Amino acid sequence: MMDVNEMEKVEDGFLFSEVSQLGHEQVVFCHDEPTGLKAIIGIHNTVLGPACGGTRMWNYTNEKEALTDVLRLSRGMTYKSAISGLNLGGGKAVIIGDVNTMKTEPFLRRFGKFVESLGGKYITAEDVNMKTRDMEIIGMETQYVTGLPEIRGGGGDPSPVTAYGTYMGMKATAKKVFGSDSLEGKKIAVQGVGQVGMYLVEHLAKENAQLYITDISESKLKAISEKFGATVVGMDEVYDLDMDIYAPCALGATINDETLARLTCKMIAGAANNQLADEKKHGYMLLDMGITYAPDFLINAGGIINVYEEFLGNYNRESAYRQAENIYTTCLDILNLAENESLSSQDAAIQLAEKRITDIGKVRLPR
Ligand code: NAD
Repeated sequence: MMDVNEMEKVEDGFLFSEVSQLGHEQVVFCHDEPTGLKAIIGIHNTVLGPACGGTRMWNYTNEKEALTDVLRLSRGMTYKSAISGLNLGGGKAVIIGDVNTMKTEPFLRRFGKFVESLGGKYITAEDVNMKTRDMEIIGMETQYVTGLPEIRGGGGDPSPVTAYGTYMGMKATAKKVFGSDSLEGKKIAVQGVGQVGMYLVEHLAKENAQLYITDISESKLKAISEKFGATVVGMDEVYDLDMDIYAPCALGATINDETLARLTCKMIAGAANNQLADEKKHGYMLLDMGITYAPDFLINAGGIINVYEEFLGNYNRESAYRQAENIYTTCLDILNLAENESLSSQDAAIQLAEKRITDIGKVRLPR
């Protein structure tokens, strides 16, 4: 919980106004003195099923920042699962602390006990600074954990499925923008060639796209440019590139006032979460500029699709890929809806996700 000094700075009513603003059902504060565990579990919506979403460990500057993060991320998970046709609600957990010194076995198991205490209302998985091995340890105390290693019957690394879904979303967007979903010869800049970016580049190279890549890591750039014949560009230079498609696969909020003044691409489709710095403002700026945007929470849903497959039992990667392929059709539906209703594609996607939650919610009501 917050210490006294911090509590004094926070005005009365802050917690409940923050929590109600985005429509959360429940927010759970977890504290354990012996292990130093401080975590917040955000349960945004459970109409479609248990709230599912990864646990992120981060050295947040303050507790307000951690709360804001968990609220925003868990809401995003509600939309991601809803739009992907999964019977899952939206949740997320954040653990506050230094991953290098605090993430011990007792610390993770204590967190697992908190997850278990929610009786399946929240299901956890990997996220930033939490790996499959950590899920195994958490799983010693709770059955409500996914993202286990393949040798334990889990789905393993979801990145290849995420990359495939992103690729499908990119092709659907290309179909809308260029009239064909072929990416041959298209100038595509992939920002971040980590787990997802690397697999995405592989798909794009097979289609003979003209590839540009950027990353912090010189070694990744070298390996990928050599393997796939991609041209390396500077981390800032990427925004000024003469390109058809910009694919953000590193950080969030790269679509903002500053970058929109520089981007000249025809479409944006990438795997990074929360690409729009301001969902409303930048979603509509893209619309005005004639840049077609593939909503990130739809086209990067391969990760949650993979987790859902594991959650159902008897994990089958082929089935996860098949579901990720549906992103193509959903993406086209969203882009058509956006066009017909003069909405930003982000708003159109949210509208469809909310409609599914409302419709299925009615079906589930007792008659
Ligand atoms: P990753 O950490 O493996 O890769 C990110 C890459 O971006 C790294 O190589 C890093 O060096 C690079 N990078 C960091 N800052 C950069 C910058 N300023 N410019 C260029 N490159 C930079 O992560 P990942 O698993 O590949 O995920 C990439 C993005 O996709 C993240 O935003 C993540 O939240 C999102 N995402 C991932 C999955 C998944 O299944 N892994 C699922 C959904 C969403």
